[in-house]
Amino acid sequence: MLRAAATVAPLTWRLRPGAALVVLSYHRVLAADSPALWTEQPTMYVSPKTLDLHLSELKRRFELVHLDEWLRRAAEGKPLPPLACAITFDDGWRDNLEFALPVLREHGAPATIFLVSSYIDGGQNFWPNRLMRLMRMSFAEPGSVVYPRVLLPVVEPALTAARSRGELEADAVDRVVKSAKAAFEESVIRELVAAAEPNGACTAESSELLSAEEVARLGATGLVRFGCHTATHYRLGGQTSREDLEREIVHSRARLQEICGQSVDLFCYPNGETSPDAIDMVRRHYIGAVTTRKGWHSVSRDPHLIRRIGVHEDMSNSRDSFLSRVSALL
Ligand SMILES: [Zn+2]
Repeated sequence: MLRAAATVAPLTWRLRPGAALVVLSYHRVLAADSPALWTEQPTMYVSPKTLDLHLSELKRRFELVHLDEWLRRAAEGKPLPPLACAITFDDGWRDNLEFALPVLREHGAPATIFLVSSYIDGGQNFWPNRLMRLMRMSFAEPGSVVYPRVLLPVVEPALTAARSRGELEADAVDRVVKSAKAAFEESVIRELVAAAEPNGACTAESSELLSAEEVARLGATGLVRFGCHTATHYRLGGQTSREDLEREIVHSRARLQEICGQSVDLFCYPNGETSPDAIDMVRRHYIGAVTTRKGWHSVSRDPHLIRRIGVHEDMSNSRDSFLSRVSALL
């Protein structure tokens, strides 16, 4: 079934009317035995080998483009390749420099990395990774973490089930992060996780994100450009004050332009969450913005609500699964 889909679907790609753009969304690039996977969700990474496979397959079928360049050409009504593909990485992980860049270089593949402005050299890390670390600590040593009361219904059932199985699986931790996202506003869950952290619990992870110097190194290659992923990875779907929107959408852009030394014209909504006010502000300051909605982009679609195809190791590590995924079938 997968083989048939992977063979037939690419044949239909060229039948699409007008210029089509597939935007792939990656996060981390980590080897299967990387210790970083201890506090990572399965949907967050591909291995360098898998990225290499993807780029080999993509090059045969698409013109690999810089996302901002494709959008500018589209806005100006200039000719576009019939089938283009833009690679994006969200969050600004250091492994993008260590493991993704060598593969991008080998294939001459351009990419956009969406950076969180205040996390560059800020010694901070994302709350999902911090929560995962806390759960690993609780599992290894029951009672070692004291969770705020409101967090217990989210965390405890998973820990109890894991203890009875004798293993805290990545999928179980992943489900806890998703429940926490659904249950709490961004500012609330951050405070809850911080309140549960013994002093210094998250500092060991602070080096997992790119520093300003590393961002400059990536930019100097000419292959990598940068977009804004807010100031603090703030989910914009809820009620957000004008002041918060300006900090996350406008001031973050100015800060990133200082750090990157290049114009930052693309935006990425954290967790794909949007609101009419957020979209309005993004429209006024960026030429385009990407979401987590699944699908392909084209000139007739809204450039400030670009759909993407999310790719991660567990469902794209073979040619057939990858091509099915690119077709939005998987
Ligand atoms: Zn993100």
